Amino acid sequence: MCGRLRSRLWSIVITLSPIAVVESPFAGKFAVPRQSGLAPSIESFVRVDAAWTDGLTGLEGVSHVWLLFLFHAVPPGRVSTRVRPPRLGGNARTGVFSTRSTHRPNPLGLSLVQLVSVEADGLRVTGGDLLDGTPIVDIKPYLPWSDSAPDAHNALAPEPPEQLVVEWSVKAQAALEAACGDDVASVRQQLSEVLAFDARPAYHADASRHYAVEIAQWHVQWRHLANGVVEVVAFSER
Ligand code: SAH
Repeated sequence: MCGRLRSRLWSIVITLSPIAVVESPFAGKFAVPRQSGLAPSIESFVRVDAAWTDGLTGLEGVSHVWLLFLFHAVPPGRVSTRVRPPRLGGNARTGVFSTRSTHRPNPLGLSLVQLVSVEADGLRVTGGDLLDGTPIVDIKPYLPWSDSAPDAHNALAPEPPEQLVVEWSVKAQAALEAACGDDVASVRQQLSEVLAFDARPAYHADASRHYAVEIAQWHVQWRHLANGVVEVVAFSER
């Protein structure tokens, strides 16, 4: 490529128009899974703009899709070449491109989700890590023979985050059963998957404290016991 053309490429500015919006159980950042696939039972709906629903044709035969989205809820601030990922304890810095940080030069995210069903107005998916209201700029099918690398490794994040054991107190379980009818097992599973990855804000590690979060229409309270156990202490519908 000649030098003049190459230097012009740096000044390309494009406008991205969302083609869909995510409806997820996560109204706030607190307790959102840190990566797609970590809470595989969590269900979200990708509501596709009517102008683009015809573009979903053919996805019936696809098990997983990539969602390309805008990190629309990142607080404004200077984007730096180095970030402090929670993975490295929140103090050590590494290059932004070696992380999945939400603070990037272009605020684009990428998540792999399982396709549950293709509907007239969008896609029902599981395993998402997106906030409610996240704008989606593209959807692509997962290609198992190209998108997976069996010999891949990542020295910064060699293993999934530690998973805690989630127990429900008798009182919380009774409240769950009273509120959820046929959905008891499913709601318990979804909430337990989220809490298993330590939903506390990074700066909290207080064992005696009760934490609370709202996930979909549910209000859950929990505490951290010793030895990697989380106990759900209260459950209610908001
Ligand atoms: N899988 C994506 C996102 C990883 S970071 C990627 O790798 O690009 C995951 C975190 O993004 C979540 O814990 C949540 O706090 C944050 N997040 C999700 N949707 C967001 C949005 N619309 N705006 C800002 N942050 C968001």
